[in-house]
Amino acid sequence: MKRIAILGSTGSIGTQALEVIAEHPSEFSVEVLTAQNQADLLITQALAWKPAHVVIGNEAKYAEVKTALAGTEIQVHSGAKALEEVVTLDSVDIVLTALVGYAGLLPTVKAIKAGKPIALANKETLVVAGALIMPLAREMGVPILPVDSEHSAIFQCLMGESHNPIEKVILTASGGPFRGFSREQLAQVTRAQALKHPNWSMGAKITIDSASLMNKGLEVIEAAWLFDVKPSEIEVVVHPQSIVHSLVQFEDGSIKAQLGLPDMKLPIQFALGYPNRMKASFPRFDFRQYPSLTFEQADTQTFRNLGLAFQALEKGGNQACLLNAANEVAVAAFLEDQIGFLAMSDLNEYCMNQGTFIANPTLEDYIESDKLSRIMAQEWVDKNRK
Ligand code: NAD
Ligand code: MG
Repeated sequence: MKRIAILGSTGSIGTQALEVIAEHPSEFSVEVLTAQNQADLLITQALAWKPAHVVIGNEAKYAEVKTALAGTEIQVHSGAKALEEVVTLDSVDIVLTALVGYAGLLPTVKAIKAGKPIALANKETLVVAGALIMPLAREMGVPILPVDSEHSAIFQCLMGESHNPIEKVILTASGGPFRGFSREQLAQVTRAQALKHPNWSMGAKITIDSASLMNKGLEVIEAAWLFDVKPSEIEVVVHPQSIVHSLVQFEDGSIKAQLGLPDMKLPIQFALGYPNRMKASFPRFDFRQYPSLTFEQADTQTFRNLGLAFQALEKGGNQACLLNAANEVAVAAFLEDQIGFLAMSDLNEYCMNQGTFIANPTLEDYIESDKLSRIMAQEWVDKNRK
């Protein structure tokens, strides 16, 4: 029985993880559930799953959660610090980082230091501080099991290949709702259009990132850290059907791919159950329903975020941390209708260029870089409001 801490249980990944756990009651149990603002759903989940601990990030909602769970054994905590503590509990066997954004960094560091395997959905943690996280995980002997579908695909392709060098990893991208759009068209797109992803239903931030190809950029950086590959060994190919989840090319030219219907429950289950494949009742892929799987070049001229992510990866240091912080501010401002779609990559580029570069950052440097980049980004938003 694996006892799981789910950070971000009320989100898209978090709720799907609970569906996976519900299908495998003898393999998994829920030890910790956490949410930032959605107190009502957290309470419902807590009453259903009876975890030992819950954390509500927003301290203003503590009393509401505490009162609702008063008649139970469940311990209620609140605030960002509590997240860093619950991941270290002896009763936690694996931590699923299903929270969004930079907020994942410190709890992940604490969990690794406590020796907990990480099922990693929160890609921002590796984008911000992969240079710190990966060596720490190796030192602690802790596996980082990817939940992101592309990285899960690559991870699956690499099973049994540890002695064979990777020539290239090929990340597939759906292209999002604006595939084929010109910059003139992108200048006009609305929040509502950007929130309609063709293949996946996800949280708001990653949905906007998918529309701007920032998500693929973040995934390029995530892949570099997870699989120890150079920027030149990572290729992005647009595959609108989202059936081939990603591929690995070896030194003999052979390419392995992992395929399946677009359903995040599969990579979530694979990470939680690793190294075992468990039975699943998900619908199966049927070739007859997909007579053509197509592939095309990613357009980094139009979707500049993807190019910026490669640049940040090449430059190293705290560059991707600056980019990530800027992008979190940019996406929030776009969702508030304060800036347009194309302004997001302008803002990202501005913070990458203007932020103070640190070649070998410490954890404190990452924390400071994130903070300063956010301030700079917010000032840019205030000056460039629509
Ligand atoms: P979501 O917005 O649906 O859910 C986010 C969760 O994190 C919620 O439970 C929320 O309460 C919590 N949260 C938000 N801000 C927080 C904060 N500051 N501190 C603590 N908790 C906070 O997001 P999602 O779509 O489930 O994505 C979660 C992560 O997984 C992201 O990093 C995303 O990139 C990654 N991911 C998601 C998908 C997907 O299909 N949704 C696929 C691949 C990777
Ligand atoms: Mg992905």
